[in-house]
Amino acid sequence: MDSIDKTALTKLIREKAPELGFDICGFARPRILDKNKSILREWCEAGMNANMSYLVRNTEKRADPAKHMPDVQSIIVFGMSYNSANLQKNEGVPIISRYAYGKRYQDIITKRLNDLLLFIKDFNNKIEGKIFVDSNPFFEKAWAVEAGLGWQGKHSIIINKEIGSFFFIGVLMLNFDLDYDKPEGIDHCGTCRLCIDRCPTGAINANRTIDARKCISNLTIENRDPVAVELGPKLEKRVFGCDICQEVCPWNRKAACNNHPEYSIPDEVANMSPAEWLSLTEEQFIRLFKDSAISRVKYANLKHNISIAMKS
Ligand code: SF4
Ligand code: SF4
Repeated sequence: MDSIDKTALTKLIREKAPELGFDICGFARPRILDKNKSILREWCEAGMNANMSYLVRNTEKRADPAKHMPDVQSIIVFGMSYNSANLQKNEGVPIISRYAYGKRYQDIITKRLNDLLLFIKDFNNKIEGKIFVDSNPFFEKAWAVEAGLGWQGKHSIIINKEIGSFFFIGVLMLNFDLDYDKPEGIDHCGTCRLCIDRCPTGAINANRTIDARKCISNLTIENRDPVAVELGPKLEKRVFGCDICQEVCPWNRKAACNNHPEYSIPDEVANMSPAEWLSLTEEQFIRLFKDSAISRVKYANLKHNISIAMKS
């Protein structure tokens, strides 16, 4: 069938998204994101990208969807919540970021967007698509705003009124015109500044960017060097990533827990005691975290983070 029109296909995609496990989706018209490009350049020039030198490269490609897909006509952005009611259970344990509780989201979302693309091609086999899940130089967060999924909070993360900010973003570009959503035009942060005031390292800038040199998430995940011992007390026991700015956000307090099983914490990890974390062996590390984002860091670095965080 090659005759489906844009309104019918937009509706079909909206209906199919929840079946594939997506909690939200929106449709944006491609354009060059000049403002985001300038902000990124200024941020890198100020050194705030820390050790992430790859962010200096490919700025043009990051801002221009056509550099990824010359005939792109639509950018569809999907959000999949990882907000779960099941958290680490014991007091005083090293804390891991919630996004790393379950399986690697890149693999899960890429597979589902591939399934969606096959579903779309059943209606018109001339449609081509390209999938982005944290895999290419691309402004995923900015496209989430363009597609009406939410607004960029003062902590730099996208917030959706219904599901808050604990969600993963996946993008599907199509060479087919669709009905577009309007970007969220209102800053629902208002006068709130809880995230800024609560950040233990003062990493949140006034322009909704983060100074990666100070941010615990960067220091405990992206940074190849061990976290400086003197930073131990500031970690507030966060040993892989940090969710403090999201946890204090009023929009997350009222957000529903979606409890997708693939993103839930295994019981064995949820129940670990402080002593079990301190005696974590390399064999346990590999077994417990082989499917999680935690496998991105070396065992020795996680052990170091646990050691300095638990001394404080
Ligand atoms: S993740 Fe943690 S350290 Fe980074 S900005 Fe948020 S509260 Fe601050
Ligand atoms: S804590 Fe307040 S200022 Fe920060 S992102 Fe949430 S609503 Fe916005």
